[in-house]
Amino acid sequence: MSGWRLEHSYAGLPALFHSPAAPTPVRDPQFVVFNPALAVSLGLDVAALDTPDGAAIFGGNTLPEGARPLAQAYAGHQFGHFTGLGDGRAILLGEQVTPDGTRVDVQLKGAGQTPYSRRGDGRAALGPMLRELVISEAMYALGIPTSRSLAVVSTGEPVQRERVLPGAVLTRVAASHLRVGTFEWAAAHRDPAALAALVDYTIRRHDPAAAAAPVPALALFEAIADRQAALIARWQLVGFIHGVMNTDNMALSGETIDYGPCAFMDSYDPETVFSSIDSQGRYAYANQPPIAQWNLARLAEALLPMFDQDQAVAIDRAHAALEQFTARFRHHWLTGMRGKLGLATAEDDDATLATALLAWMREARADFTNTFRALSAAGGVDAALLRDSGFAAWHAAWQARLAREASGTDDRVARMQRHNPALIPRNHLVEDALTAAAEHGDLAPLERLLAALATPFDHARVPAAFTEPAGPAAPPYRTFCGT
Ligand code: AMP
Ligand code: MG
Repeated sequence: MSGWRLEHSYAGLPALFHSPAAPTPVRDPQFVVFNPALAVSLGLDVAALDTPDGAAIFGGNTLPEGARPLAQAYAGHQFGHFTGLGDGRAILLGEQVTPDGTRVDVQLKGAGQTPYSRRGDGRAALGPMLRELVISEAMYALGIPTSRSLAVVSTGEPVQRERVLPGAVLTRVAASHLRVGTFEWAAAHRDPAALAALVDYTIRRHDPAAAAAPVPALALFEAIADRQAALIARWQLVGFIHGVMNTDNMALSGETIDYGPCAFMDSYDPETVFSSIDSQGRYAYANQPPIAQWNLARLAEALLPMFDQDQAVAIDRAHAALEQFTARFRHHWLTGMRGKLGLATAEDDDATLATALLAWMREARADFTNTFRALSAAGGVDAALLRDSGFAAWHAAWQARLAREASGTDDRVARMQRHNPALIPRNHLVEDALTAAAEHGDLAPLERLLAALATPFDHARVPAAFTEPAGPAAPPYRTFCGT
């Protein structure tokens, strides 16, 4: 039994949106990581699943009770270019209905070829799957909407990349895998019935209130756009860079999905790019909000026939809805920034105060996370930092602003420590943990890192080794696509 309650609402969509696809068994499935807390919240039986039988399920060798495996079809703009895609190495087992009645996709990533694999092998390497697990679970602990990682199972099989790497399968749990690219797929096929069915389905799954709106598809679009604005604001506020914000990697649920060459920035620089394939800096930190809006424009284009039968009216509606993105993003960003600065009230100049701090950080190449952590210190800002005249000037303005707040210092510090993580997944630590695990079979650094990242707001008990950025001798950080 093991607690599986799999349903298959997505499979009820027209055949255009999916193909049956069974996982291809692997030689020797073994747990590298199993996430018991997540399993419990899904209503799964940890004792039954943290076993060789469980590893066989999460490696794709046996199907859990009630599974009806399929690959999802979707298109996408990749670095600005439109392509037909689909799950080339991910297989949806079904939707688990959790004890609290939530419906979540359970998907095996790296489970073998599907009808959408094109020339790919359908497989994944252990390092990138562990990276997705570490970063997604860190995002979850930071309170940022994200898909989650239930397990990483090594396959006992090699995968051929630039070099031969150990293979693995990741079990991903997400509110859904509906994405901008799913709508682009429907639109590209010029199939109005399929598009209408997808709108209905997405509304039922994510935005039931939109069904009662005068134009349900428009209300759906506005809800998706607001979630996206909120999500990207959260990314900006912790210095997270997704790395591949293609439209196929943008979930309509508002969760962060598809962790590839993502990373957190150390010193604040809006032009930071980590992905080795992003030579133009399309997905640099500062570009994330405009790219989200660009992706939403592709979604609006796909939805156009559903906004109105008259194309001119439809386009006007799309423009009006898209135009709100910037203001919505600003709102979410500023609300979060006020929290980071310990402000419970709102004043007109708060955004200026925040951008002045960022300007100083950029100039000083200050560490983003540690600067906010320093501001959140119970005993006040460190004297060494105040010797920097640029910082001291900003600090004086901040103190003047804080003086107009009614709440006392203890409240302010508590508020700031809830908004500013004491630690993030530092690139060198992630890299060290992945190397130890994937190349030397040593899981201890990974386990230590996961344990520390589970409580990022615990300022009183943060291990010093986890808060330091890489030393100045470290080469610029690059991450590689998780293929
Ligand atoms: P991603 O960059 O992970 O978002 O993947 C982009 C597209 O490439 C998706 O359609 C994936 O399913 C597909 N893909 C990535 N890696 C592989 C692989 N090893 N085999 C087959 N398809 C893949
Ligand atoms: Mg993807």
